[in-house]
Amino acid sequence: KSGFISIIGRPNVGKSTFLNRVIGQKIAIMSDKPQTTRNKVQGVYTTDDSQMIFIDTPGIHKPKHKLGDFMMKVATNTLREVDLILFMINAVEGLGRGDEFIIEKLKEVKTPVFLVINKIDQIHPEELLSIIEQYKDLFDFKEVIPISALQGNNTEKLLAEIKKYL
Ligand code: GDP
Ligand code: MG
Repeated sequence: KSGFISIIGRPNVGKSTFLNRVIGQKIAIMSDKPQTTRNKVQGVYTTDDSQMIFIDTPGIHKPKHKLGDFMMKVATNTLREVDLILFMINAVEGLGRGDEFIIEKLKEVKTPVFLVINKIDQIHPEELLSIIEQYKDLFDFKEVIPISALQGNNTEKLLAEIKKYL
């Protein structure tokens, strides 16, 4: 089984951290500054019976100028071509306008989408429930999976769920 997986989400939600953890080496640039990842970075996670090709997709945000508009189109086309989309959010910051824009884009494609709630090491379990409540009516997510990309909590479970969609 093999397939392409696109990771999208606002800057700093932890996309590169997750990729680095899964691939086990520093393939994507990590930074506190937004927009550091300018290129589509691919990492391949291989097990005995599966191969996951991850794509760190930049450019999913409201375009401010023509170049941004072009990048947006490239990004949306990428979403159309992959087998699965991981929409990653930051458990600490909650729903923002940037997220709403991304959700509108997700509705334009037919690709299955997981909601990945990252940084759960920074919140209380009760807070997690209210985040799930907030998001689950906005889009028909195939799975909702809380993780900590930094500490590795539940990342194995996420990989197992991904495998079902390859
Ligand atoms: P990206 O812009 O979505 O690629 O985000 P990065 O992977 O560059 O992460 C942005 C910041 O969030 C970095 O300082 C990471 O160390 C931090 N971060 C990422 N994942 C987690 C997590 O699960 N828990 C905590 N506490 N911090 C995280
Ligand atoms: Mg990044």
